[in-house]
Amino acid sequence: MSKDNLARIGQDDIYSRLDAAIETTVKVHADRNDLEGRFPRENLQALAAPGWTGVLNEPRFGGLGLGHGDFAEAAYRIGQQDASTGLVYVMHVGAAQTINLFGNDDQKERWLKATGGTLLGTYSTSERASGGHWWYNFSEASRDGENYVLNAEKSFTTSSGQADFYVVQTRSPGAKDQTDISFFIVDGKASGIDPGPWEALGVRANHSGPIRYGDVKVPSRDRLGAEGQGKEIIYDDVSPVYLIGLGAVWEGVARRSSQCGGRTHLELCSQGQEQKPVGLSGHPPGARRRKGACRNFAPVAQRARRQA
Ligand SMILES: Cc1cc2nc3c(=O)[nH]c(=O)nc-3n(C[C@H](O)[C@H](O)[C@H](O)COP(=O)(O)OP(=O)(O)OC[C@H]3O[C@@H](n4cnc5c(N)ncnc54)[C@H](O)[C@@H]3O)c2cc1C
Repeated sequence: MSKDNLARIGQDDIYSRLDAAIETTVKVHADRNDLEGRFPRENLQALAAPGWTGVLNEPRFGGLGLGHGDFAEAAYRIGQQDASTGLVYVMHVGAAQTINLFGNDDQKERWLKATGGTLLGTYSTSERASGGHWWYNFSEASRDGENYVLNAEKSFTTSSGQADFYVVQTRSPGAKDQTDISFFIVDGKASGIDPGPWEALGVRANHSGPIRYGDVKVPSRDRLGAEGQGKEIIYDDVSPVYLIGLGAVWEGVARRSSQCGGRTHLELCSQGQEQKPVGLSGHPPGARRRKGACRNFAPVAQRARRQA
């Protein structure tokens, strides 16, 4: 047997373990989490067990050492079963990749490898004043001797209030302008972190609410890269992972939606014809609903009806 074939067998095994985690855990909890706005912690643990939360990370720090294509494939497969878990997964892989590419060995040991790779991370970049122009920041870190203090209001942060660490983007102390950016790893247990509520019509389990950092102390050992290196970090890491990952999750959602007859809850709500779960009404009359086929859309439609 050639080396190529051996590599292929290894890869198939990695994918079969991903599929098993999705099938036995992510899929099973999707409806309940969405209905109750319950954070999918157990789903991320199930994805961490076969190493998929460290998909891009170096193997010497517990990662799988795979590429962006495999990351996109995983996000796509997760998105087909649960968009909320998909978003949490993408933001986690992005935060981990920032450390993987720009962190030092000490940071990789403490945030990527510790506890068998089960620590959950996320990005915290967006601010209300700059919105979609998220490469600009108005918040600014200040100095505390050789350490830093963060005061920032972020408009959205997936896994807010739940993450074990936040990769926070803000202006460097004494920044020349809004693009003079630095990145910090903030311990989720640090005092001064105040997550706001996440009240959304859909993807209710991903907790992408606002978050406030009030006088949060960050030791210098948790600054990522050099001061002012933020622009490079955004272009080389944050943007590719964010754009590829989100695209893959929504592609997965679209695929599942097309299996529901191509009609989403939004279409049905706008047509005012919502009287039964979308998963059922999305099929031709008389068609039998494949078990679990249209999960995630029904709870959203039910809530839309209640709020109407
Ligand atoms: C579910 C969810 C999860 C998220 N997770 C995270 C996260 O983990 N971390 C994080 O940092 N952020 C996160 N975000 C934020 C996201 O990345 C975007 O930054 C944010 O949604 C855009 O900001 P805004 O809503 O204020 O839109 P705005 O920037 O106010 O834009 C609103 C609209 O105006 C348009 N617009 C804006 N500026 C212009 C212009 N100059 N000319 C013409 N049109 C313009 C936009 O295209 C858009 O249609 C999340 C958002 C969502 C919805």
